[in-house]
Amino acid sequence: MIGKSMQDALNQQINEELYSEYIYLSMGTYFHAKGLDGMAQWIKAQAAEERSHAMKMFDHIVKRGGRVELMEIKEPPRNWDSPLDVWKAAYNHEVYITGKIKELVKVAEEEKDDEALGLLQYFVDEQVEEEENASKNVKMAEEAGNDLAALDEEMGKRE
Ligand code: MG
Repeated sequence: MIGKSMQDALNQQINEELYSEYIYLSMGTYFHAKGLDGMAQWIKAQAAEERSHAMKMFDHIVKRGGRVELMEIKEPPRNWDSPLDVWKAAYNHEVYITGKIKELVKVAEEEKDDEALGLLQYFVDEQVEEEENASKNVKMAEEAGNDLAALDEEMGKRE
């Protein structure tokens, strides 16, 4: 059975992951509005991944006899200064999420919750990749400058 503090911390993180889905969807609407459908495709695929992160935590709580508590998801921003600005915001968001995952690891360590630590190791590794991808996107958008057509097409290939 999962302990109360671990359950609370994971429930909080489910909310963060669902907010991640929400903010990435919002970024998708921004890209669509700019005619950048490839970038929209990329970030919507990322949004779907965030939902799967939330569900991994959801399933972990359920399997361990806990109770998932869904909370209000805050409204994401709708506008950014430029496509590059979106990619920078996405990178900063991932850095923020990495910090949250590390806080969860601390809770799991304090609670001596080996099962949660096992789950969280997946997210620690995942964040290394998320930050790498996000930082690559910033670099590519910087290099593309005002000519985003080729990058947009490339990013649209993400499944
Ligand atoms: Mg995530």
